[in-house]
Amino acid sequence: MFGGLENIKKMPRKRAVVLLSGGLDSTASFLWALKEFDEIKVVFFDYSQIAYEAEKRSVYRIAQKYKIEVFEDKVDVLKKIAHPLKDENAIKARKSMWVPARNVVFLSHAIAFAEFYGFNAVVIGFNADEGADFPDNTLEFLDAFNELLKMTSPVRVVSPFVQKSKAEIVKYIYNYDRELLYLVHPCYLNEKLNCGRCESCLRFKKALESLKELKLDYTRIFLEN
Ligand SMILES: [Zn+2]
Repeated sequence: MFGGLENIKKMPRKRAVVLLSGGLDSTASFLWALKEFDEIKVVFFDYSQIAYEAEKRSVYRIAQKYKIEVFEDKVDVLKKIAHPLKDENAIKARKSMWVPARNVVFLSHAIAFAEFYGFNAVVIGFNADEGADFPDNTLEFLDAFNELLKMTSPVRVVSPFVQKSKAEIVKYIYNYDRELLYLVHPCYLNEKLNCGRCESCLRFKKALESLKELKLDYTRIFLEN
């Protein structure tokens, strides 16, 4: 159920680096890691994504609420190449949001950081909905990545929601700390609130539609409802 979890059970003192972008999957994974690990640190990536400022605001609000330190890492290679998360027109047209090797690059950066500081796990927020579209969001990818790591690093990658739907992930955040659903920024654009129209916002809305009983205030989440 939990991708990679078997690896962390054996760890004597469990310390994890959590990749946090302010989106739903990474926020739920962050909350899960707070419970499961003795110590965590957050890594946030600047890869010239349009939503950078909004994501950063969200990441710091979430991490600081739980007194967790944030390390920001610039990913030069993704800053230098064209990718759709830099392109407002592509985002608005809901084109494919594939960024070349993004999760491989992010994980590699986080693993270097974790290994250097003696942390034994990296936690990343994959989910079943995006796993259907992106091969680097799947349990198979995670297992293959951990196999590769056996050859080169003591760090293992864990993704607790890899087989969970977006709605289950929203529900998890709600049950842990519902106020965080007003702090998250899964949106691809850099607005004060989530735009309500990009692909990521539509996934969020669809999840919320199936969770009407939570009675969340949409005006605090989206610019356009
Ligand atoms: Zn949006």
